[in-house]
Amino acid sequence: MASEKQCRVCGENDLRTEFAGVQDLEYYSYGPVDFVRCNGCDVLMQDPLPPAELIPSFYPTNYRNYLVDDKPSLLAGLKNMQAAMFARTITKHLKNPESDRILDLGFGNGQLLLALSRIGCKNLSGADFSESPHEKLRRAGIRLAFSNFDERFPFAETEKFDCIILNNVIEHFLDPLKVLCLAKAHLIPGGRMILITPSSNALDLDIFKAAWAGFHAPRHTFIFNHRSMEEMAKKAGFENIRIEAFNDPGQWAISCQSLMVGASITSKNQLKNGLAFYTVPLSLAFAPISIVQGFTRKSSAILCVLS
Ligand SMILES: [Zn+2]
Repeated sequence: MASEKQCRVCGENDLRTEFAGVQDLEYYSYGPVDFVRCNGCDVLMQDPLPPAELIPSFYPTNYRNYLVDDKPSLLAGLKNMQAAMFARTITKHLKNPESDRILDLGFGNGQLLLALSRIGCKNLSGADFSESPHEKLRRAGIRLAFSNFDERFPFAETEKFDCIILNNVIEHFLDPLKVLCLAKAHLIPGGRMILITPSSNALDLDIFKAAWAGFHAPRHTFIFNHRSMEEMAKKAGFENIRIEAFNDPGQWAISCQSLMVGASITSKNQLKNGLAFYTVPLSLAFAPISIVQGFTRKSSAILCVLS
């Protein structure tokens, strides 16, 4: 079905419904949503986009990306390992990791900032719209701000950073191009923007379709791939665009969980913080597939380095 609307990334009107009735099988926060594919840039966009005033209700108090895991658990261990690996990847792209000013936009529970702090980064800032207790981050000397950064930059208007990170964040906005432009304006000349986001080229999307965890509906509004990310980055004025595979076995496991919940094999009452008891161990079982997938253009997610 054709839509009258415009793609918010490239302005194209040629949008076709590709996934209809994508449900929130993790938190049941909202009704099913549809995604259209833009024929101009290939982005998948939620259609209609949700009203801005409803968006806070998509993040319940048990939303796992905001939970701080203080007790040792398999999930906490895996998440810390993932954050440590990503932190090391980030520092490879920095000239002076110890002194570079690094901003994590949408830091969630702060795991990545803590991982960066542990490997010696000293000039760390984080911003998020959700204000939850972050004593550990403050104790590590990390500067924090809380605001909706698609409306206003969370720090001083004149402030610039060597690196701005959007870790699984850009896909949550109603206007991702605007967010990218806003962030770019706060990079020093030659500064880096580093993003991770689910990829619509993913092999797991081909397999799980509407149950694919990368939709994370209704919270993910735009799903990018190599082509749409490149188009958006060029529009935002970036000249050097590097896009590589990023492995995410958790995405496979949550997709399996959503299939089970959708088929009522797992009841939604059995989910704790959006996860079934088997989902975290299952993600370990998917690790080998995810690693192999990372050598192709059909990886679960993409890592983008823009300057
Ligand atoms: Zn487009």
